[in-house]
Amino acid sequence: MLSEQIKKFVLEAGAQACGIADIGRFEKAPIGFSPKDVFSQCRSVVVFIKQMPIDAILAESPVPYTHTAYKMYEELDRIAMELCRFLQQKQVRAVLVPSDVPYLSWDQENMHGKGIISLKHAAVLAGLGIMGKSTIFMNEALGNMVYIGAVLIDAVVEPDPLLEDFQCPSGCRRCLEACPQQAMDGITVNQKLCREKSFFKAGRGWDLYNCSACRRVCPYRTGRKKSSQ
Ligand code: SF4
Ligand code: SF4
Repeated sequence: MLSEQIKKFVLEAGAQACGIADIGRFEKAPIGFSPKDVFSQCRSVVVFIKQMPIDAILAESPVPYTHTAYKMYEELDRIAMELCRFLQQKQVRAVLVPSDVPYLSWDQENMHGKGIISLKHAAVLAGLGIMGKSTIFMNEALGNMVYIGAVLIDAVVEPDPLLEDFQCPSGCRRCLEACPQQAMDGITVNQKLCREKSFFKAGRGWDLYNCSACRRVCPYRTGRKKSSQ
C-alpha cells in the first residue's frame, strides 16, 4: 500500500513519526492557506515530525537553541526533498512545503507571518498530535520540541485517524503564566507581543530566538508520561 511505503521511507529518512491527512480535512483552512491553494491537484498531505536534541532549550545563551532550530528545519526539508524524489519515481506528483521560511504572507505592523499552509494544523489533521493552549504542537510520545515537515501529493492514500484522547491536563496554565509578555489567552498568541520578546538581531544581523518559556515549562515538553495526568 502506498501509505505504508511512504511512512517506511520517511521514517528511514530520519523522521520519528509520520501521518497522512486527506484533503477533505482542510475544508476549514483559511482562504489562501489550504493545500489546494498551494497545489490544486493535492489529494493528500503527508506530515512528519522529528524531535530536536532536547537540552538545547536549557542553555542560557540563545545561540545553541537558535542554531539547533535552524538545523532542524534543514533536516525536515531534506526529508521532504527525498520523499518528493521517491514519489516522483512512482509517478505520484509531490510538492514540498517549507518547514520554515519563505513565507508569502507577512504583516509587518503586527510582525505576524504565515507559512503557505499551517504545518501545526496539518500535523493535527494527520493524527500526529494536538495544539496546546500555547498553540505549540505536541506529540504524545515526543512532546513539544518537535519540528514539522510536509509534502502535498496528488494520490489518494489511506489517512490516519485523528487523536481523540490527548489534551492539555485539566487546569494547566503553566505556559500562560510563564509568558513574560502575557501574549497568550489560552486560544491564540499575540504574535507581535511574542516576537518583541522572542526574537532579536545579534550584532551582525543574525536572527536569534530569545524566549522559549512557554515551550520549556510545559509538562509535555518531552512527551506525556503515564503519571502526568
Ligand atoms: S515564546 Fe516567550 S514571549 Fe512568546 S509566547 Fe512563548 S513565552 Fe511568550
Ligand atoms: S503548559 Fe500546560 S496548558 Fe500550556 S500547552 Fe503545556 S500542557 Fe497545555
